[in-house]
Order: sequence, then structure tokens, then C-alpha cells
Amino acid sequence: MLMQGLHAARRERAQQKTAALSAEAALITSRANVRYLTGLISSNAAVLLPADGPGVLATDSRYAEAAQRDCPDLELVIDRYIEPTLVRLAAARGLRRVAFEAQDLTVQRHQELAAIDGGPELVAAGRLVEELRAMKDETEVGLIARACAITCEALAFVLPAIRPGQTERDLAIALERAMIDHGAEALAFDTIVASGPNGAIPHHTPGLRPLATGDLITIDCGARYGGYHADMTRTVALGEPAAWQREIYQIVAAAQQAGVEAAIAGTDVSTVEAAARDLIADAGHADHFGHGVGHGVGLEVHEDPTIGYGKTGKLAAGVPITVEPGIYLPGKGGVRIEDTLVVRAHRAPGILTTTTKELLVL
Ligand code: ZN
Ligand code: ZN
Repeated sequence: MLMQGLHAARRERAQQKTAALSAEAALITSRANVRYLTGLISSNAAVLLPADGPGVLATDSRYAEAAQRDCPDLELVIDRYIEPTLVRLAAARGLRRVAFEAQDLTVQRHQELAAIDGGPELVAAGRLVEELRAMKDETEVGLIARACAITCEALAFVLPAIRPGQTERDLAIALERAMIDHGAEALAFDTIVASGPNGAIPHHTPGLRPLATGDLITIDCGARYGGYHADMTRTVALGEPAAWQREIYQIVAAAQQAGVEAAIAGTDVSTVEAAARDLIADAGHADHFGHGVGHGVGLEVHEDPTIGYGKTGKLAAGVPITVEPGIYLPGKGGVRIEDTLVVRAHRAPGILTTTTKELLVL
């Protein structure tokens, strides 16, 4: 009952936003958004949410039993083709203006819906549910914290076993296995292990390169728990690091710390971005840091808010984000340090990925 009340409260907030768009209903098709609003985990489900009145959940027979169990307070429609069914239903109920998720619905699926005889006017809803999802309640933060704890435990388990000669791929697989063994329901994303010169590639795919003494090794990993994601990066040294390696490590660590300290409720995301980026630029590495400083984390590993790329908007308390600056030197190597943390009011954020950020020399 408690969970049903939670999802009903979320639907009510989504209904208020739908009404504010002057739409009579919203058609929710994003998998994460359907889960957020109903609790149903399904690869084929959608919700027709009138601005006023109860919602209709459509899914196919594979999920019928789960939908009956998890969503007893929603009207249920079982059909293979969920979106046309809901749009026809909207028309039958006299709903003339339906907001859809343009970031999710493909052009082809939209064309099919728009071609329905006597169907409603379809208008783009914007990131209506994503905006609601950015702010997490304590239960959600608890799930992200658990995912982060599993990630840290798994990394602590594999770090002492790292040896020269082991391949990037071996290390990635060992870490993924450890996350599952420590309680992850799944991986949050494909693990990145980037060693030596590969460290200059922020999202390097772990390959057959053997780890070698003198490498910096960037490890970007995360567990998923209860549907929620963790995201953490650490860079470690295999053998005593060279002066240039220590130098870029210290710059990135300072930039990451500056970004974390800036992430207080009420601060604009562009201020957090600048706090980290300026430090790297001032050290002469502006051209060696191409990606954004961070992103929201939740039911998806990358979600609102985006920190970087010219984005603006104030951080609110209760929003989990990452702060993940890096320096990438083509042909030589790189460093990235990333935490998942929760923004708080009037005080430093709560760091959920607690693995040390001192340079570990293995
Ligand atoms: Zn990451
Ligand atoms: Zn990240």
C-alpha cells in the first residue's frame, strides 16, 4: 500500500504538470517514466494519464500478472500494441489534446499515432516526468546509496588483485563479477577500464591490453540496485607514478573537490561546472577536458540535471548528481575522478561513493 501511495502521489504531480501544458492527458511511454509513475517494470508498457481522473496502464500479456499485482489502483489494458490502444482510448473518452514524450517516441511510432482516425491532437510534453524525477525522496536516495556502497565494496575487492599482465578486460570482468557478488541486481553500465595511453580516451572499451607497471588505470563503474544506479570513477597507479602523472592527478582531484564543494542547494549547475573546469583550465589543460562535469543519477544512469554544455538551472536539495572532471593527454594517458553525491541545503553534499580519492599506488 505504501508503494502504491507513493506512485499515486507521483502521478498527481505529473497530472498537475500536464494540466499546466493545457493538455487533457499525457501519454507516458519512457520505460523509466512508466516505472516511476506506476512501479511496473516492463519493456512494453505505457500510461495514459488524464489531467484529471485515474490513469490507464497498458501492457502486454507477459506483464499482465505483474501489473495486476503492482498497480491495482490503475485501470489496466492488456494489448500488444499499447500506444495506438491508448490513443484510441483517449479519443473514445473525448480527450482532444494529448501530450507525448517527444524524447522517447520515435518518429515512426508518432506517425502511426497521428494517423489514427479521429485521434487527439498530439503535442510535445517536454521532459515533464524527468523534471519530477530529478528530485529524489529518501527511499530513492537510499537505493542509490546502496548501489554506491556495493560499487565501492566491489572495487575494494578487486584493487589488491590488480597485477601487471592482467588485461583491461580481465579487470573489468572481475569487477563486474564482484559487483554482482556484493549484491548488485545488474550493472549500471558497461565497466570502463582504460590503462596507460588508453586513459586518454574517456569512454575507452576495455580490451586485451595488458596492464603494465607505470600505468595510470581509470576505472569507471557502477552497480544497479532496486532500479537505481551508481556511478563512480577512480584512477589508480600501477607502480610508482611519474611526476607528470602525479601532477595531473592532483589537478583533477582539486577540480573534483571544488566541484563537490560548489554543489549546494540553490547553486546554479553552471557554477558547479565552472568551479571544476576553471581549475583545470587555469592549470593549462583546458583542451584536455572535453566532456561535461556531471549529471543526475537515478532510474537512469544519466538523467537530469546535466552539469556542463552551457546548461543552467538551480540545484535543489535531494538531487543526486555526479561530479567527474578529467584530464586526457592524447597518446599518454589520463585521469578522471567521479563521485555520486546528494545535494543538500546549506551544507556540503553527501558523498555516496566513499572510496578514497588519494592516489592509490598498487
Ligand atoms: Zn562514470
Ligand atoms: Zn558519470
